[in-house]
Amino acid sequence: MDYKKIITRVFNEVKAGENQGEVSGYIPELANMNPEMFGVYLTSLNHLEVGMGDCHEKFSIQSIAKVFSLTLAYRILGEKIWERLGVEPSGTAFNSLVQLETDKGIPRNPFINAGALVICDILISQLKNPKTEFLAFLRETTGNKELSYSEKIATAEKSVGYRNVALCNFIKSFGNIENNPEAVTDFYFHLCSIEMNCEELSKAFLFLANGGKTMHNNQPVVNTSQAKRINAIMQTCGFYDESGEFTFKVGLPGKSGIGGGIIAIHPGKYSIGVWSPRLNEKGNSHRGMKFLELLTTETKLSIF
Ligand code: GLU
Repeated sequence: MDYKKIITRVFNEVKAGENQGEVSGYIPELANMNPEMFGVYLTSLNHLEVGMGDCHEKFSIQSIAKVFSLTLAYRILGEKIWERLGVEPSGTAFNSLVQLETDKGIPRNPFINAGALVICDILISQLKNPKTEFLAFLRETTGNKELSYSEKIATAEKSVGYRNVALCNFIKSFGNIENNPEAVTDFYFHLCSIEMNCEELSKAFLFLANGGKTMHNNQPVVNTSQAKRINAIMQTCGFYDESGEFTFKVGLPGKSGIGGGIIAIHPGKYSIGVWSPRLNEKGNSHRGMKFLELLTTETKLSIF
């Protein structure tokens, strides 16, 4: 398979097409991104690396970080985490409060904000210094000591985070948040603030292509069954209310963020990071979706 040739062709085709959608206006740090940025980076298990465009520009990975927080909580607590949240697509907006009322404070999955807040709560209960230890976990998993929170973005998230504060308090009213909601949202806002470029993103997620083991030092991050399940949740819940569409068009597990980033994984083969800030009406990168759809079409390889 000549990935380099196919990626180059598909990248150029998408770049030449219309750059549709809007950049997120959620916080100024996102709103001010250059909408023309477009980068992709693939890393394969047999050491092939292909980067195109703005693949070395850092961006805010936003909700993509929810995969890492889930991974750490799952590694620490195992199947017990599923007593606190589910694994079903929500079919509603990522920041919706509605289902929590009937579901008695049990979020549908770890990638909607409600679920990510419960995961943050679990980590606060389990770790002495959650922010520091989470960052250490991220650096160890990725082999990248440079990764860090952006205090600027975390502060901006906090200044507009009324809905996340509401979600956290609402879940606490059902008894499914153990810690102080302020500590939980602070951790959550920091999680959303992590910055990476496409190469870093692609390398950071290789463990999910590699049965749960890191590529740089062959260490288990999670076990094979947990890696399968994290991929499965990415497949069914990774793209807001467009997860079915992503599965239909791309056919790979993945996760998007409102910064315009997407990570997609081909278990047993590769991990690919894509970034383009303009989002479609469902909040997923327009060019990112298009690129990945063409990639799996042209390579004739997806998990299906
Ligand atoms: N930081 C945003 C929020 O908490 C969401 C990020 C995302 O979905 O990428 O509402």
